[in-house]
Amino acid sequence: MLNCRDVAHEASDYIDDNLSWWRRLMFRLHLFICHNCRVFVSHVHTTREFIRKRGTTNASPEQVQKVMSAVERQSEQK
Ligand SMILES: [Zn+2]
Repeated sequence: MLNCRDVAHEASDYIDDNLSWWRRLMFRLHLFICHNCRVFVSHVHTTREFIRKRGTTNASPEQVQKVMSAVERQSEQK
């Protein structure tokens, strides 16, 4: 039987369907009896879907230069 810590560590693998059938069965059994882990896995799933749908955006060269300049200024002050 998995415990809550196992579920927290393996939630992403569960969502991505990367667990063996036995481990997946044990995972589901734990979710069946543990409300907190059901909520946790649901939140992980929702967060990942949000990030996936949002997609990635690349910074413009000007934005990159602005950040790099700020980093250089910080390193010069130390
Ligand atoms: Zn649990």
